[in-house]
Amino acid sequence: MNLYSIDTGYFKLDGGAMFGVVPKTIWNKINPADENNMCNWAMRCLLIEEGNRLILIDTGIGNKQDEKFFGHYYLNGSGTLESSLKKNGFSKDEITDVILTHLHFDHCGGAIEREGENLVPAFKNATYWSNARHWKWATEPNAREKASFLKENILPIKESGRLKFVEQSPNEFPSFISIREVFGHTDAMMLPQFNYKGKSILYMADLLPSAGHIPLPYVMAYDMFPLTTLNEKKSFLGEAAENETILFFEHDPLIECATVQNTEKGVRLKDQFRLSDIR
Ligand SMILES: [Zn+2]
Repeated sequence: MNLYSIDTGYFKLDGGAMFGVVPKTIWNKINPADENNMCNWAMRCLLIEEGNRLILIDTGIGNKQDEKFFGHYYLNGSGTLESSLKKNGFSKDEITDVILTHLHFDHCGGAIEREGENLVPAFKNATYWSNARHWKWATEPNAREKASFLKENILPIKESGRLKFVEQSPNEFPSFISIREVFGHTDAMMLPQFNYKGKSILYMADLLPSAGHIPLPYVMAYDMFPLTTLNEKKSFLGEAAENETILFFEHDPLIECATVQNTEKGVRLKDQFRLSDIR
């Protein structure tokens, strides 16, 4: 198995929204905000090469909305989905599977692209994986979360005929990946977990967007059910400390991977490293 960290660029989100009830005087020390109170975040996807499968987890924000939309997010950095795949020797057409942890725009925007007037799969030979419960949640969105579930990112996936639900096609889903479902950030978000070089790797998506979110009260204001997130964090972090699980961060601006440990204050960061450092 080979793993590749896929940098699809950076974007900015309001620091207060990212850290929920934690005061700026505290979070600003680890993630300094700019003059607009915005902090910079990665959109880091993970590519898994195993046998004849080439599996991409999440796709970044994509490029099909208008300037006004992207103007809210201050896109920056030199990486794009396409250039980062290319840098590692791959093209979009080679991807066999795209696992979408959830359908918020910064995770699934790159899944669909414009071709003239049409919205088509960016990965034309891939199966796109979601689950029935999250799909329903995203396509019949509540008023609070509606702005994160953009129709143009989501509906063309189904229309293309390439959408499958993990629980309905278990024999076709890559057998070496377990899906851990969580329900606090949004309904039925999927965290892929698998073994690599004798270690367990867990893709954290928005359960733990960055290493700065490890202490339990650091729950994003974006989360639908913050107390559920808090309980899920407690359970996952306890398990990760126990099993020395490697956590892969999608949004941490600097840290790709980390392990955690139990301390007197609770679970805290142990080691931080790059995916390519795993031996
Ligand atoms: Zn999200």
